[in-house]
Amino acid sequence: MLGECHAHAIMDGMNYKAAVALHRDGVCEKIVRGHLEAYRKAGITFVRDGGDAKEVSKLAKELAPEYGIDYRTPVFALHKRGHYGGIVGHPFDTWQEYRTLIKRAKEENADFIKIMVSGLLDFAHAGTLTEEGLKREEIRAMIELAHEAGMAVMAHCNGDRTCYDTLEAGADSLEHGFFMGDETLHLLAERGIPWFPTFAPVGNLLGCGRFPDEEVRKNLRMQTERVKKAAELSAVIGLGSDAGAYLVPHGTGTRDEYRYLTSAGISEEMLRQAEDRVRMRFCQGAL
Ligand SMILES: [Zn+2]
Repeated sequence: MLGECHAHAIMDGMNYKAAVALHRDGVCEKIVRGHLEAYRKAGITFVRDGGDAKEVSKLAKELAPEYGIDYRTPVFALHKRGHYGGIVGHPFDTWQEYRTLIKRAKEENADFIKIMVSGLLDFAHAGTLTEEGLKREEIRAMIELAHEAGMAVMAHCNGDRTCYDTLEAGADSLEHGFFMGDETLHLLAERGIPWFPTFAPVGNLLGCGRFPDEEVRKNLRMQTERVKKAAELSAVIGLGSDAGAYLVPHGTGTRDEYRYLTSAGISEEMLRQAEDRVRMRFCQGAL
């Protein structure tokens, strides 16, 4: 069984506010064990978390060996204050603060650094995001400083321009990556940076009634078409469901993502190649 390369143990696939509240007075071990058990049952032995602000993934990593799971985490993600990222990590205003957070992540046993450089999909309006991405120089500095500290970089990123800048700046994996244009896909393929298109948080919304199905379908179609194009260019495309996101439960979310990827023509062999890169690059702690 393939691993899950993008999960969030802090969320439960149902209601993130309620899920986060369960850890209000410290991490709830029972909940974390429940998620690990779901992975064990699904036969998943490798999980890469995308971080959280409450040390939930940190505990998941500590408990994971009991479930036969190799669990990797950035502990928390980093975002520029005032931008998206509060649920999954901590904000910074200055580069000094950013450096201090990297140091803290390393002290807390982070396997890599996770950065947030763009907004989320606006699910109600296909093709659009909740906010503009960060500036090219900001993205470049975030990646450079993490690399200087000897850490690989997992980048949450959507939008054509922001993805281009993030790939060009040398991120080690690209997460979500919605709405990439042809030139950006060429850069992705050229650099061989693993891309996790996270279909499940979009596709699993179909029929749920929270957003117009027509808009959901458009986003799904666009991402499918982009993934097919990227595969033609021999890009590295991997299995990461964003498990924990709404309607993407731990364990079964990975299987959903596998189904979306294979129906876009991605073979298990290709997915394994992406996972191998992640295991090589993201599991060393300091490079
Ligand atoms: Zn994520």
